[in-house]
Amino acid sequence: MVPPPQSAPPSDSATGDDADTRPDRTSHTERAAAAERAFQVVAMTNLEVFWVDAEGRVIDANPALCRNTGYSAAELRQLTVFDLNPAITPQDWAEHTRLLRRADPPSLTMQGLRRCKDSRTYPIEYTASHTVTDGADVFCSIARDISAQLQSFEDIALFKTVLDRTNEAIFWLDDKGRFLYANEAGCALLRTPREAVLTKTVGAFNPRYGGEAWPRHWKELKARGHWVFESGVCRGDGSWVDVEISANLLTTQRGDINIAFVRDITDQKQVMEEMKHTLYITRQSQRAARIGHFYFDMVHDIGKSSEVISDIFGFEGEFSGPLSAWMPFIHPDDRERLTRHLMDDVLRDGKSFDIEYRILRANDGTLRWLRGKGEVDRGPDGTEALLIGTAQDVTDHKQAEDQIQATVEALTRSNIELERFAYIASHDLQEPIRNVVAFSQLLEKRYMGRLGEEADEYLGFIISGAKRMQALVLDLLDYSRVTTAGRAFAPVSVERVLDLVRDNLRMALEECAAHLEIAPLPLVSGDEIQLTALFQNLIANALKFRHPEVPPRIQVTARRDGATWCIAVTDNGIGIPPEHQEQIFTIFKRLHTDQSYPGTGIGLAVSKRIVERHGGALTVDSRPGAGSTFTVHLPADPPPSPAPTGTDQD
Ligand code: ADP
Repeated sequence: MVPPPQSAPPSDSATGDDADTRPDRTSHTERAAAAERAFQVVAMTNLEVFWVDAEGRVIDANPALCRNTGYSAAELRQLTVFDLNPAITPQDWAEHTRLLRRADPPSLTMQGLRRCKDSRTYPIEYTASHTVTDGADVFCSIARDISAQLQSFEDIALFKTVLDRTNEAIFWLDDKGRFLYANEAGCALLRTPREAVLTKTVGAFNPRYGGEAWPRHWKELKARGHWVFESGVCRGDGSWVDVEISANLLTTQRGDINIAFVRDITDQKQVMEEMKHTLYITRQSQRAARIGHFYFDMVHDIGKSSEVISDIFGFEGEFSGPLSAWMPFIHPDDRERLTRHLMDDVLRDGKSFDIEYRILRANDGTLRWLRGKGEVDRGPDGTEALLIGTAQDVTDHKQAEDQIQATVEALTRSNIELERFAYIASHDLQEPIRNVVAFSQLLEKRYMGRLGEEADEYLGFIISGAKRMQALVLDLLDYSRVTTAGRAFAPVSVERVLDLVRDNLRMALEECAAHLEIAPLPLVSGDEIQLTALFQNLIANALKFRHPEVPPRIQVTARRDGATWCIAVTDNGIGIPPEHQEQIFTIFKRLHTDQSYPGTGIGLAVSKRIVERHGGALTVDSRPGAGSTFTVHLPADPPPSPAPTGTDQD
């Protein structure tokens, strides 16, 4: 691009029409002296000066051009302007010379390129002028190397780009709080265009620094020189952000400038708030649960624990130290066990830290039970061993557990005693009852009809009472035998059990024209004799409690429900009112009189006991008048077999 002609000082060596008309104000001697001075200046200046003719051929050059290009004056005279300034094309040259001939004053200032003898080039700024000597065009070029100037322009441009591209908001402020500069991130932070920012003062974005407050703030900054503080910014759209400002005072020729780096810390503050909240919740919940955390560097033998741990151990304040520092507070009987667990199971075998141990509190020596849990973090290269875990005060829990254990033991003992009592009572009562029955029947045989009507009636009562007592005692014996005379479990085909039951009840089934349907049934683990008694009891009940007008129809089906077999015995009998469905499993509980339906009310109690001994449950679902379904729930995966309980000698 060719810049417009610039004004240049009027030339002494005036040429053309102007020169001819100009009055000659100097004498010949003075002009010779001036020419001499000019020659010396041209010879001594660092500016590159050379003259060319209309074709651009070098006529002469000064020493500076020789120095800078490495050419001798004679060599230069062999060159053209195109050799010395390769940025110029013949078209440019034609245009320049045309302009120079017409320009008034005849000079042009432009930028170009200087090529040296060794082909090296450097940027130049030159002023070209035109004279006519002896009727011929002479063009003069005065140039200077502008590499350094361009370099610093480039540096500034680079610097500005960096400032603008950085994510950090940067502002320059003067002593009045006026914005001298704002980078792109700064304008984005303020949500205000740069032109608007540069017309404002800091007070526009934070009233705290407006008006009278600014001089005080400036004074403080001058005193400190460098100052980092938290503040806030009200942005162009009215929203508010929390910021951290790093203010730096810089003394320049333009006066003191504050170079401020501003960072949006809204997210950071929110995270801090959340962390504080989480910490608070953690601390409070740890306190409530009496559970504290710790970490222990097993390699360097140093650990640290939370407040709650100090509280549990009865320490004053925080406690940290090597493993040995904790040992005095571990109950002497648990020290070795704890150390072994830590060293062998956890560190050597890589298991989790999980142990209950006792401590003796540091402040009052009281005994507490702790549950320790943790994991070892070995770090990325396996050279670290950081045990991170928790310790919970489980003393109350432990005491409650001990109490439950003691109660369970006491209950088990009393249960065994009761069972033994029930067994002995029912077993030992048999003999006297048998005697009562036998002798009362003898009495009946010998004296019936001879002692009067009333005595006959009484005798009848004695006999039926004694027989009932005998039946009850026998049933009680059956009930106690479920646990005292149980056999070890073995695989049992329930289908085979039901075939056996059908055989046992063949007469009863035929008598009432009952229809018994048996679906495919599973194999379970159990006591075959007891399972036979169980299903025989359920089917006998289905026959006993049949509908008076409908022949009994009994179905035995099985269905798998997860880990359980549900074997159902369904009848179409009289059914059971909902309010009695729970009671019927209670020992000796009956819903009918002996006259309407004979029985002692022990069958379902025994059945329930048998199912429970097999790890299952017995349930009923019934509708009065429509029938009942008794379901035996048995584990499909057999429970560990209970040992046979053979205390019964009979
Ligand atoms: P018992 O048969 O000697 O009465 P159970 O313990 O076998 O004793 O039964 C308790 C009670 O449950 C019975 O008296 C009866 O009222 C009711 N019951 C049992 N099975 C059935 C059934 N299949 N249908 C209707 N009621 C039944």
